Amino acid sequence: MAASLDGLPPLRDVIERFGLQAKKALGQNFLLDLNLTGKVARAAGPLHEHTVIEVGPGPGGLTRALLMQGAKRVVAVERDERCLPALVEVSAHYPGRLEVLSGDALKTDFSALAEGPTKIVANLPYNIGTELLVRWLTTPNWPPFYDSMTLMFQREVAERIVASPQDDAYGRLGVLSGWRTEAKIAFDLPPQAFTPPPKVRSSVVHLVPRAKPLPVGVGRLGRVTEAAFGQRRKMLRQSLKAVGGEALLAATGIDGTRRAETLSIAEFVALASVGEPRA
Ligand code: SAM
Repeated sequence: MAASLDGLPPLRDVIERFGLQAKKALGQNFLLDLNLTGKVARAAGPLHEHTVIEVGPGPGGLTRALLMQGAKRVVAVERDERCLPALVEVSAHYPGRLEVLSGDALKTDFSALAEGPTKIVANLPYNIGTELLVRWLTTPNWPPFYDSMTLMFQREVAERIVASPQDDAYGRLGVLSGWRTEAKIAFDLPPQAFTPPPKVRSSVVHLVPRAKPLPVGVGRLGRVTEAAFGQRRKMLRQSLKAVGGEALLAATGIDGTRRAETLSIAEFVALASVGEPRA
């Protein structure tokens, strides 16, 4: 068996040896080519001084790329216990640099894992990817515990994250991520890059927190955007009724006959700030 670039066994052998056949329920679409995982890791920028938080290391392809690229420390949270013995081997190869936590990312307090400058890098399970992103974007303390997030999503979700007003994909996710971060699609990967291949293309999104997002309560902004886009074809004076729309529109001077998709992030912030003490 020929060793890989990093002297560890090839990922296909790891999968075979530890019986890591992908489970759909866990959103398992593995990247087995270390050149591709290297490309994802590089999209995160320099890692030498950083703790990297990874969700779902699986058989360890991206984890290995992060370590090969010199990440100071990787903390990886994996729910599938079958993967743990494979990750122990990676940890032994990079003494003191990889910590694997067995557990559910949805129950993990990520801010407690950050140590020194921290980046989040992950090929996220598609079924919980959006939920995790929204949690990281709405973290109460700002600037947040991470310097950047480099995350793999289905292409359609990536488009919603980076969408601007008037884009078909513009919605609550675009407002939240555009409000607090600068988000860009770094590159796409075709289904065949993964084992097993998913149905759709994937994209790596890179998000960098803004130093000073416009001040507004996260909860208020969430409720206003949700109401506005919940009935996106309706005029704002109709869709915002449940959140006191008439008063919000009057106070901001925003025309109630407009639709949600035409509003800039600053306009959503203005609507959500009505009646709030100025920060
Ligand atoms: N990082 C690996 C790669 O790139 O090949 C695997 C990525 S795969 C798309 C998603 C990984 O997330 C799987 O290993 C899966 O077991 C794990 N996972 C799924 N749900 C999880 C959860 N709630 N908490 C932590 N890990 C989870």
